[in-house]
Amino acid sequence: MRLKIGLTGNIGSGKTVVSCIFSTLGIPVYHADEESKKFLDDPSVKNQIVKNFGYGILTNDQVINRRSLASLVFTDENALQLLNSILHPKIRQDFRNWALLYTDKHYVIQEAAIIFESGFRTEYDYIIDVSCPKEIAIDRVIKRDKIDGHSVQRRMQFQMDDAEKMRLSDFVIRNDGSELVIPQVLSIHQQLLEISAKRKDDVASGAADA
Ligand code: ATP
Repeated sequence: MRLKIGLTGNIGSGKTVVSCIFSTLGIPVYHADEESKKFLDDPSVKNQIVKNFGYGILTNDQVINRRSLASLVFTDENALQLLNSILHPKIRQDFRNWALLYTDKHYVIQEAAIIFESGFRTEYDYIIDVSCPKEIAIDRVIKRDKIDGHSVQRRMQFQMDDAEKMRLSDFVIRNDGSELVIPQVLSIHQQLLEISAKRKDDVASGAADA
């Protein structure tokens, strides 16, 4: 693998849908939110969470109560930052180890909602932002998760503005229904393959010059 790509976008913007398209193109995708769940069973993570949030965060079976944890961090930005500071170093290392499995690939993708907010930017060569107006994303999440608009807005309250994410990204996929998504993915895929090939040539000519 020559390139590490971050795939970001706000809640409900369509990251999962887009990453499925990249997967069908044979690109390995690391889903940070999904992977982070396994760390809740890691004893050191569990201890830190209990130390910071109290024993009330455990279920009767003494495992982290994910629902309680989620409702805590959706309403309290300090709690969210604290949880992120516990989980992010683990995810960062796990992603690096995982990426090493794919040295034969042109690029791999990490899907994560908060690449910019978490200071993860330097982990990647390029960032793709999946962009969708908040009102459309809210409607889609209401339908997907069968929750009310107020709950969706609560989840969204600490995320970076969509326009700012677009500005900070190298590629933008518009997922507001105005443009087909698959051609946008194919165009970015093609560009990344070309960048990867050029990088390989540069490395080879650098080695020949040395
Ligand atoms: P989260 O951050 O909550 O994980 P996400 O960014 O991964 O969300 P998705 O789950 O991919 O977003 O998309 C949100 C919902 O919107 C899903 O139900 C998905 O099927 C739907 N959706 C995504 N893109 C479109 C589209 N272009 N047209 C219609 N529905 C869409």
